[in-house]
Amino acid sequence: MSNVAAVFFGEYGMDRAALGVAGAAQKLKREGGGTLVGVVIGQPAAGMTDALAGLVDRVVVASDGEVASYQPDAALDALEQILKPLAARAVLLGNDTYSQELVPRLAHRLGGSSLADAIAVALEGDGVKATRSAYGGKALAVYQLKRAPAVVWVRARALAPGEPTGAQGAVEQAKVAVQAPRLRIVERKKEAQAGVRLEDAQLIVSGGRGLGGPEPFEDLKKLAATIGAQTGASRAACDAGWVPPSWQVGQTGKKVAPELYLAIAISGASQHLLGMGDSKVIAAVNTDPEAPIFKHCSFGIVEDYRKVVPILTEKLAELRK
Ligand code: FAD
Repeated sequence: MSNVAAVFFGEYGMDRAALGVAGAAQKLKREGGGTLVGVVIGQPAAGMTDALAGLVDRVVVASDGEVASYQPDAALDALEQILKPLAARAVLLGNDTYSQELVPRLAHRLGGSSLADAIAVALEGDGVKATRSAYGGKALAVYQLKRAPAVVWVRARALAPGEPTGAQGAVEQAKVAVQAPRLRIVERKKEAQAGVRLEDAQLIVSGGRGLGGPEPFEDLKKLAATIGAQTGASRAACDAGWVPPSWQVGQTGKKVAPELYLAIAISGASQHLLGMGDSKVIAAVNTDPEAPIFKHCSFGIVEDYRKVVPILTEKLAELRK
């Protein structure tokens, strides 16, 4: 039972986060052999199947009927039918909201074990060893998942991207029988979003309650646009209705791992740190020198954001010229 599977969602394409999932799956294949199967749920983005076929041994696409756009019950039925015959040792997913929703249910259906938010995975004995941050990034916890398959979602952007194998794996369309979903989606609203999704962002400018209202987020958007960053927020700012819930970073929000995370007027509560503590570089602007975020950042400015943000925007714009 040494096959490995990695699950991707068609709408995201093979972005940097998806490549991180592929890279982790390739590592498990290197350690244990077997076949590496990439499963695509939903209509694949342009060029996705070709790109994925260059990274795995086999690509299976489930995109017909109910599975064409994401619906959890349909996606679970499809994944169960595709993955059961594979008898994979590990099934890896990314740090998007679909994966977070599916992982425990999928593990239950496959009779395996599950883990959220791994930053490293390895084969160990008959099982899988997965590492994740604990205590807001102060410690690492190592888990042994002994019941196969180990169904794990990884903080994809923090992991080395998949490398082309030099061959093109076979691509096949899955024939799955999806039961009538118990959940009916009556409307889909797509949020206007420029650039990459938050989970895949290389640079993130994030704002917190200390901004005092929705208007300052317009200045943060300008700052972000200057350096091609995405915008995020603390839960306090999202709960206040200043920005959409999809911006939330943290334990109950998005888990991100950009090259740079700029936290503006965010205190750095442990639940926020859980979402961004694995960023390569953290920088913070806060009026309170005792704010916990300063214990976790590489660069910090103790100052009112109203003074700092315009100067930062201007200087970064000059540097980008
Ligand atoms: P605050 O803690 O109020 O911090 C505001 C900061 O702004 C302060 O440090 C202040 O000094 C600074 N400030 C004020 N004025 C200025 C100024 N003019 N210029 C510069 N700085 C200024 N939180 C998350 O973010 N994400 C989660 O996913 C999340 N999940 C949670 C799950 C659970 C189960 C629980 C219990 C809580 C969760 N929280 C989460 C909430 C978390 O505990 C904090 O309440 C929240 O992160 C605080 O947000 P904040 O830092 O924006 O606000």
